[in-house]
Amino acid sequence: MAQLDWSDLSFNYRKTNVIIVSRYKDGEWSEPVATQDFDLHLNAFAGVFHYANACFEGLKAFRGADGKVRIFRPDENAKRIRRSGSHLDMAVPSEEMFIRMVKQCVKGNIDYLPPYGYGASMYIRPILIGSNPQLGIASSTEVLFAVMCSPVGTYSGAKILTPATAVISRNYDRTAPNGTGAFKIAANYATSLHPYNLAHKLGYGELLFLDPATKTKIDEFGSSNFLAIKGNTYVTPLSDSVLPSITNKTLQSVAEDFGLKIEKRAVPVEELCEFDEINACGTAVVITPIRSIDDKLTLESETIERTITVPSGDECGKVSRRLYDRIRAIQDGREEDTHNWCYYLD
Ligand SMILES: *Cc1c(COP(=O)(O)O)cnc(C)c1O
Repeated sequence: MAQLDWSDLSFNYRKTNVIIVSRYKDGEWSEPVATQDFDLHLNAFAGVFHYANACFEGLKAFRGADGKVRIFRPDENAKRIRRSGSHLDMAVPSEEMFIRMVKQCVKGNIDYLPPYGYGASMYIRPILIGSNPQLGIASSTEVLFAVMCSPVGTYSGAKILTPATAVISRNYDRTAPNGTGAFKIAANYATSLHPYNLAHKLGYGELLFLDPATKTKIDEFGSSNFLAIKGNTYVTPLSDSVLPSITNKTLQSVAEDFGLKIEKRAVPVEELCEFDEINACGTAVVITPIRSIDDKLTLESETIERTITVPSGDECGKVSRRLYDRIRAIQDGREEDTHNWCYYLD
């Protein structure tokens, strides 16, 4: 039995009981196995180590108020990893296999699933990596698909929905025009680590990337989408270089249910000062309200060109909070899941 303080979990790796692994070779996937050995045995020449033949996913399982275990929209993650892996021209698991292995992972680590009431959950991390030895630049012909998990909570000390500061990344892009921004591949993260570190060193919680082609429109934050509220309208960027966030998609449905108007369109940087509420959104925390956004010519420069202060300020915006509360209530089984987003452990 896991000996964990459920009220003091952050977004850190914690070892659980098992990981679930399947390997693709000669045209077929092996029967997934649960193993306590967390060290993957890979040839040093495997493509993942050299050419980043790798993509991944992130989703969550929750212990509900009714005791049931809900996995949130795994079908969407299955579809997305199939798109990412296909873009890397490697074999991908079927949607059915993905969901089966995710369930197997939650079941095999059920002792580590936080109980209801702590705001904690089980973060599930599937990875798809190229495993055959290679030297030439090529897509992987053998692939390893692993599903692992870790209990996560709210950051210790910090309250949920505490607004963060952000800075615009003028001199670094996370992806290229016609690049891989819309795919959840490991390489995108390698690209953004350095600017991320610079932003964090300056004390910013979030880094806001612009469209790499013109640098005049909002794309997204480093690992989460951009969404803003303007009156009765939900605004989110429409861009080829933005990762299609499942949380953003979910928030849009809820916003529609609430009678908000949805605008998916180009968002010019100048419009930042016109929004009532701004948030970063993603699976890890659903939303992170943004209190202010600094603009600097470079992340290395001392000077701040201008600061955009978001009207909601020190508080999470009212509309954003309502959206957040609704999603968390569905995930926890406190409100009816009218869209059938939750998958149950049988
Ligand atoms: C994963 C990810 C997100 C968030 O997606 P969700 O499906 O909502 O978790 C946003 N932006 C980037 C770049 C991502 O990799």
